[in-house]
Amino acid sequence: MKHCSHCSALVSFIVPQGDNRHRYVCSSCEFIFYENPRIIAGCLPTFGDKVLLCKRAIEPRKGYWTLPAGFMENGETTQEAALRETYEEAYASPQLNELFSVCNLANYNQVHLFYLAKMTSAQYGSGPESLEVELFEEANIPWDDMAFGTVTQTLQRFFEDRKNGAMQLHHIDF
Ligand SMILES: [Zn+2]
Repeated sequence: MKHCSHCSALVSFIVPQGDNRHRYVCSSCEFIFYENPRIIAGCLPTFGDKVLLCKRAIEPRKGYWTLPAGFMENGETTQEAALRETYEEAYASPQLNELFSVCNLANYNQVHLFYLAKMTSAQYGSGPESLEVELFEEANIPWDDMAFGTVTQTLQRFFEDRKNGAMQLHHIDF
């Protein structure tokens, strides 16, 4: 960034007093612009033994498959964000269960969280950010056309856990 969003003066990239990292600091009003990781929350919705995936209608990774997920908004919980995104992208309202994966993308300044979620009916559809939404058996998951590594890893671990008969929380670093 170049200019302060509060007073429009130039900002400089310096270590503020008492800090140990470089920050953008306004040269006039001295506002410090902290930049912190962003949280992406989503669901791993299942119906029977099938998993609900969305084909992305938007960049990045347009045309590739993903679990419904998106950036958390201010004022909501991670659970609310996961359910909101699932409705927006897949018009599905599953019953939210436990947290399944916490994916740290330290190089991208993001954390991706996926909750297990049970669909009580096969009601879903394509939201504006999805080209297609579909239920997949494990054998038909389009592994070569997955949008994000976090989704691939989360699904792989889900199927492993399911085979072993016990779901556990996974911490995955990228
Ligand atoms: Zn300023």
